[in-house]
Amino acid sequence: MASRGGTQYRKNKKTILGANIQKYGKITCECCKKAPLVQNLPGEKNNHKYSATIDHIIPLSKGGTHALTNLKVLCFECNFAKGGEVA
Ligand SMILES: [Zn+2]
Repeated sequence: MASRGGTQYRKNKKTILGANIQKYGKITCECCKKAPLVQNLPGEKNNHKYSATIDHIIPLSKGGTHALTNLKVLCFECNFAKGGEVA
């Protein structure tokens, strides 16, 4: 059984965060433009309003993928408000 996009997701998450930093100069929420967001360490919970989360534009539950075109950086609050999957 394939993992839930594990390797590709980790790679794309890095890429999308890199692109976000290039675009804004620091990790910035694509929705409310809050910055700088903090990257949580692996295993740490993304539950702070300044936590950077990776949003799936089309949720995985609706057939979305981990493709770069389906990912964007949101703060925890926006991601949570949207009700999508928290990265
Ligand atoms: Zn936000």
